[in-house]
Amino acid sequence: MATGLILAAAGRGERLGTGEPKALCRLAGEPVIVHALRGALSSGVVDVVAVAAPPGRVDDVRALVAAGVADVTVVPGGSDRPESVAAALASLPRDVETVLVHDAARCLTPPEVFVAVARAVAEGAGAVVPAIAVADTIKRVAGEQVVGTPDRGTLRAVQTPQGFRRDVLERAHAARAKGATDDAGMAELAGFPVRVVPGHDEAFKITRSVDLLLAEAILSRREGSRAVPGD
Ligand code: C5P
Repeated sequence: MATGLILAAAGRGERLGTGEPKALCRLAGEPVIVHALRGALSSGVVDVVAVAAPPGRVDDVRALVAAGVADVTVVPGGSDRPESVAAALASLPRDVETVLVHDAARCLTPPEVFVAVARAVAEGAGAVVPAIAVADTIKRVAGEQVVGTPDRGTLRAVQTPQGFRRDVLERAHAARAKGATDDAGMAELAGFPVRVVPGHDEAFKITRSVDLLLAEAILSRREGSRAVPGD
């Protein structure tokens, strides 16, 4: 029973403002997608990988992810994230029964998050999300008016990788539930229970230019902690 990783990397990254698709932006000298793939593979729970690449950059992405990794397929992504995930899902070999769907933009996600999500699926959950408590108080608004303040203690910010039994993910996508902004949301709207496991602060999504600064700082701290004192 194999585990497949879908790497959603086909976004244009317009909010980042670099002019380059987000997955191809460089962090500490290497493209975001290379960091993302390395983190996922270092968890040891991924057997095969399907990458959804920006449609005009499939060959560039293929060249970046091929080095040293045997089983990686790169497909052109779609016009929105669900289309990209669906294209990658269709390309996974039939013996893949557990699927982890991951945003390439969450390229610093620590390996233990992949392990926790894969373990929860292995234990029987059909759909799993990593999540963290929210730091800010969240308001519901209508125009300029506050119309509600949900109890912060019951709110969670969800991250990726999100893990699924393959049939659950396929049925969630087939239902194409309207209004869901992530795969677990699609599964939830299609009627499947979704289990929560601990996420991680460093699994944040690179979205704005300030996130690139934070990511560079985290990478330099990781590099520093790997360096041998006195070297
Ligand atoms: O746009 P957003 O930051 O929500 O994208 C989350 C992830 O989904 C990113 O890694 C992005 O590359 C991916 N994506 C995709 N196909 C799209 C849009 C976004 O694979 N059409």
